[in-house]
Amino acid sequence: MCNMLTVVEAQSPPSARSEGKPRAIVIGSGFGGLAAAVRLGARGYRVTVLEKLDAPGGRAYVHRQDGFTFDAGPTVITAPFLLDELWALCGKRLADDVELRPVSPFYRIRFDDGSVFDYSGDAAAMRAEVMKLAPGDVAGYEAFLAASEAIYKVGFEQLGHVPFDSWTDMARALPQLMRLEGYRTVYSLACKHVRDARLRVVLTFQSLLVGGNPFATTSVYCLIAFLERRWGVHFAMGGTGSLVRGLVSLIEGQGGLVLCNQAVAEITVNDGAATGVRLASGETLRADIVVSNADSASTYRHLVAPEHRRRWTDRRIEKARYSMSLFVWYFGTRRQYPDVAHHTISLGPRYRGLLTDIFERKHLAEDFSLYLHRPTATDPSLAPPGCDTFYVLSPVPHLQSGTDWAVQAEPYRRAIAQKLQATLLPDLQNQIVTSRLLTPQDFQDRLSSFRGAAFGMEPVLTQSAWFRPHNRSEELDRLYLVGAGTHPGAGLPGVLSSARVLDSLVPHANSFPRHRAA
Ligand SMILES: Cc1cc2nc3c(=O)[nH]c(=O)nc-3n(C[C@H](O)[C@H](O)[C@H](O)COP(=O)(O)OP(=O)(O)OC[C@H]3O[C@@H](n4cnc5c(N)ncnc54)[C@H](O)[C@@H]3O)c2cc1C
Repeated sequence: MCNMLTVVEAQSPPSARSEGKPRAIVIGSGFGGLAAAVRLGARGYRVTVLEKLDAPGGRAYVHRQDGFTFDAGPTVITAPFLLDELWALCGKRLADDVELRPVSPFYRIRFDDGSVFDYSGDAAAMRAEVMKLAPGDVAGYEAFLAASEAIYKVGFEQLGHVPFDSWTDMARALPQLMRLEGYRTVYSLACKHVRDARLRVVLTFQSLLVGGNPFATTSVYCLIAFLERRWGVHFAMGGTGSLVRGLVSLIEGQGGLVLCNQAVAEITVNDGAATGVRLASGETLRADIVVSNADSASTYRHLVAPEHRRRWTDRRIEKARYSMSLFVWYFGTRRQYPDVAHHTISLGPRYRGLLTDIFERKHLAEDFSLYLHRPTATDPSLAPPGCDTFYVLSPVPHLQSGTDWAVQAEPYRRAIAQKLQATLLPDLQNQIVTSRLLTPQDFQDRLSSFRGAAFGMEPVLTQSAWFRPHNRSEELDRLYLVGAGTHPGAGLPGVLSSARVLDSLVPHANSFPRHRAA
């Protein structure tokens, strides 16, 4: 999927089509980087995306193994209009390239006692599920959803594409955020409205999908409930990889390049401004602007020399709080499990205690809560006939736990397999035909995520909006950041919005000061 040109060829004399255009380099091909590349291409830049792995996608990398297709990361597609926009910028329609199929229920939540809650976008069905679980909480649930809608309108619609790179942006937003009780945590807002302990879990686990502990993360993240209700939950047929392939085609259609196996070792600087990059191979590439889609903490810690950093010093990066990590086991089975929903949340015996272990104590607990993904429920082509493709993920502490994953991974996987066999997937041990793992160590080593965090900096209020690394670097002119570790945050809607923010920060190519790149 990557272009096979070398970087030298990529820098070689511009074609008539690209001549005179300012040059942009995007470091990393996650959804944030690819979306930024499309937007910059549409605004007249000559774009080169440099990816250190052998294929694009970042967390959305695709593993193909023994006839099974495994999306490594994101599979819950919400806010599809953010993708539609990218295709529209290229004069195309997303629907012509990728089918987004609605998934219902959004999630099947299985409590430790075996009871289930089907979480969907259907108002009547949701009321009935709440009634079954906690009849006294129906009105409270409706009030929670109304609060979620109000937060969505401000937090997502009004503020999602505001750059927050000046204190005045923050000062303007604060009164609204206070009115919406953004000082509360996600869990505290749910407690305000509903009493049932299980319903509180149902209404709060979503912040974990963007790396936030519901007991610490600002209630602004309660907007996810309404976001999902408003736009639905979708699955990209062919897997999330089909969206990655689609975005790469858009970039190439604009005349841009996506080059893989190109690790950036340093962002080069002259007179306080980014001037390009130096690759691990030693080559340097010049650019008029540089956009980093690499993890924000790693970008500053490893790609920008300390003498150029005043705000994001090594000390500050060390002191920041990072999201949890994930242990992910991808496996294929020789039989199918038709009773298992596309997305299942399988809760363990503890909620608050487990999250305290993960986020605060940084302790790898013996119990776990799991998210089980069965994409073949929607798209059977992702496995050989008669088989099922799965991944199961368990939130775990990031690398500050000190866990030696080279030793712990296999026993941890076995414990998860036993739990799944006893609950959702009978006879699992005898059905596995292919298997692979992703541990916190891989998040650090493979994806360059600081401390192996799966979602970048933890989305607490003091690390959100203006307090997060800005989309327009505070350290260097002509350096921009997109992706999970910058504003607004993790998850596909977040990282696609971070690329959208660039539109208000990066000058259109036509008005770009005469460019300096060779
Ligand atoms: C297992 C899992 C499941 C998830 N499920 C969902 C979901 O269902 N729905 C959802 O919305 N979100 C989900 N998320 C979150 C979502 O996937 C991420 O927030 C999002 O994909 C991150 O995109 P990004 O733009 O930050 O880039 P990333 O995906 O983090 O990609 C960054 C890229 O930069 C590259 N890079 C880093 N350093 C360099 C360098 N020096 N030189 C060159 N390249 C470099 C990396 O190799 C990587 O390819 C999930 C995350 C995980 C891990």
